[in-house]
Amino acid sequence: MTSSYSTDIVIFGGGIAGLWLLNRLRDQGYHAILLETDKLGCGQTLASQGIIHGGLKYALNGALSGAATIISDMPARWRSALAGEAEIDLRGCRVLSEHYYMWSDSGFRSKLKTFLGSKSLSGRITAVEKQDYPDFFKAATVEGTLYRLPDFVVDTNSLLKVLTKKQRDWIFKISPGSYTFERNESGLVNAVSFGDTDTQFSLQAQKFIFSAGKGNQQLIDDAGLAKPKSQLRPLNMVYVKGKNLPSVFVHCIGDSFKLTPTLTVTSHSDAEGETVWYLGGEIAEAGVGKEANAQIHSARTLLTTLFPWINFAEMKFHCFAIDRAEANVNNNYRPENAYFIEESNVLVAWPTKLTLTPNLADSITEHFAASGIVPSSTAAAAAAEQDLSDVLEAAEIATSRWD
Ligand SMILES: Cc1cc2nc3c(=O)[nH]c(=O)nc-3n(C[C@H](O)[C@H](O)[C@H](O)COP(=O)(O)OP(=O)(O)OC[C@H]3O[C@@H](n4cnc5c(N)ncnc54)[C@H](O)[C@@H]3O)c2cc1C
Repeated sequence: MTSSYSTDIVIFGGGIAGLWLLNRLRDQGYHAILLETDKLGCGQTLASQGIIHGGLKYALNGALSGAATIISDMPARWRSALAGEAEIDLRGCRVLSEHYYMWSDSGFRSKLKTFLGSKSLSGRITAVEKQDYPDFFKAATVEGTLYRLPDFVVDTNSLLKVLTKKQRDWIFKISPGSYTFERNESGLVNAVSFGDTDTQFSLQAQKFIFSAGKGNQQLIDDAGLAKPKSQLRPLNMVYVKGKNLPSVFVHCIGDSFKLTPTLTVTSHSDAEGETVWYLGGEIAEAGVGKEANAQIHSARTLLTTLFPWINFAEMKFHCFAIDRAEANVNNNYRPENAYFIEESNVLVAWPTKLTLTPNLADSITEHFAASGIVPSSTAAAAAAEQDLSDVLEAAEIATSRWD
């Protein structure tokens, strides 16, 4: 026997995008549920460095691009959410560093100074006076200049906890491939059905949202959608654990203005409270396809060159491959902002960056309002949510790679 349930919105994927959307939609009165095939955050979200970018990274090629302009509002927006003063209440999410820095060695200083003095960037980045350097850079044995950016860093573990706290009852685990999309007479996707030989059920909704990161491509194929195009950009990320490792949050700029810094360091704590350095930037891009030993050797050499006043000999290095998943617009371009596209009742969404997720939620909620998708007031939807918890289990939050 097949049981039928109906709700307003079904979201596939419980990374930052799906969880943020679930919060926004439910706060607006929609009956929305989220389905996750693995653990919440296990894709890019927990693997991200948690930097809330203010756009400077995107200006390193010498000009303020569209992306740099769009993203520059985001730190203020996140700060108001962290203070509980925005449409999403992020109180309880830890800020790992109130500041993010950029470090350049002395050879590069004059060129950088001219660039940073340019009109487009003035006021957005400040050179830090030596006496105000964080302890790590005070101890530097090489000449360099430190700049403070408007960016800051959040702890993605606590971010996930805050975003799931109020929504636990509507977040379910499903098995990969256990679902089939159904279409109505007009050819629009109107339900998703699940089942094995014992239990069969069909979940109808006004709209479906795919916010499954890398998993969006499979969902696009499963639902038979033609328009949405995705792309992956791979990385080989490294993390370092060691006793007495200080906390550092910095982009190291190489000897040319490149869009990607030579090294991007964020610092986190593992379950034992030991500091973990997480390394991105050029090292992660150039390391794609390298064997673990080779990538770890490159990372060790780079750290020793950039920070010769730290002894990395006893530190433990690890690396792992991960893809960034984005929309593919205009032949392999990455959108400058969060992005979604609708086809046959399905919105396929990518935030593009963790930082831009609030923009994704704005554009989707505005799109619903403009296209007459309003919360249903039926008691049936509320009852369906209750019943679903009898047939589906809850999805758990994932843990960081270093735990
Ligand atoms: C190494 C790395 C570092 C980054 N650092 C930063 C940074 O510092 N700052 C920044 O702004 N951005 C950063 N980003 C980008 C940012 O992490 C992503 O843009 C963002 O996390 C994407 O979130 P998402 O929810 O779309 O996808 P994900 O976080 O990947 O979540 C997708 C979820 O969907 C689930 N799923 C997959 N298939 C299905 C299915 N069929 N049904 C249901 N669920 C499914 C997955 O299990 C997963 O939980 C980084 C990305 C990477 C990879």
